[in-house]
Amino acid sequence: MESREKELSALPQSNDPPPGRLSELLGRLIYPFLHGESPKPQQATGFYTDTTVCIGCKACEVACKQWNQLPSDGFNWSGNSYDNTNDLSATTWRHVKFIEQFSHESSSASPNMGANESPLNRWLMMSDNCKHCVASPCHQACPTGAIVQNEFENIYIQADICNGCSCCIAACPFGVITRSEEGGHSHKCTLCYDRQRDGLEPACSKVCPTQSIHFGPVEELREQARKRVEQLHERGVPQAYLYGDVPSETYSEMHSFYLLVDRPSVYGLPDAPFNPWLHMMGDYTRSIAGGLAAIAALLVVVFLLKP
Ligand code: SF4
Ligand code: SF4
Ligand code: SF4
Repeated sequence: MESREKELSALPQSNDPPPGRLSELLGRLIYPFLHGESPKPQQATGFYTDTTVCIGCKACEVACKQWNQLPSDGFNWSGNSYDNTNDLSATTWRHVKFIEQFSHESSSASPNMGANESPLNRWLMMSDNCKHCVASPCHQACPTGAIVQNEFENIYIQADICNGCSCCIAACPFGVITRSEEGGHSHKCTLCYDRQRDGLEPACSKVCPTQSIHFGPVEELREQARKRVEQLHERGVPQAYLYGDVPSETYSEMHSFYLLVDRPSVYGLPDAPFNPWLHMMGDYTRSIAGGLAAIAALLVVVFLLKP
């Protein structure tokens, strides 16, 4: 894989048109009307993140910034934890959460924890990113077609088509997307689409020293993750479970899913994510019915008042 990286980095990096104002102008005029060939569908890829082996080194966060040329977030302590990144943002597409738990607040309410188990003081580490939901509300909400599901079944934002309306931000139940103050476009993890197209694995999973982040075909990841849960149960960690590997009544499965050992809300995730579009059919029906009723009332008034 390393020699492949060297080989790729030696290739010419730009497809820019030949220099010259006229050719640039022509390129700009013609480009919007050109339809390239659609990429062939590939095996669905994603992440399985095993939070039990994460050491909070933040190498994944740094690798993401380095590969995607995202600026740093400064070095201001949040005051909430030993973490100066705080959250996902338009310039932070992967964020390692540090969750410090004391015994009085540890989750005896964990769905899988036995009644006689005594919780301990502990740190939970979780490297968070976009979940690449199969039926993704952000994709469904985008009015310009800027958000697409690419050939690897990952959710990708084409920033150059984004008009900054923020519909995707409101639709995502995980608070993943942020609009950049600089360009006004929405941004998030691309699942390193550019690297995948060149046969490379994403930067974050490649650098993770503990293999907390696993990348690969989703089916294989699910199998691997289920075996790990069984292993943890046998080793005395009955709380271990997978979050997002299968669809629920209110949400699709996610191509980036997690192995957790406490309630999702402890990690800042919704306990039961809900796709806002499930409400929308009723809302649309009510709006159309309301509009038709208003038109009918108007017509009645017009005809009644007719001399
Ligand atoms: S986690 Fe949010 S941003 Fe990512 S695909 Fe799902 S809805 Fe979209
Ligand atoms: S897949 Fe790429 S873009 Fe997404 S978090 Fe990892 S390094 Fe960042
Ligand atoms: S690189 Fe791996 S171990 Fe380090 S913070 Fe990220 S997920 Fe955790």
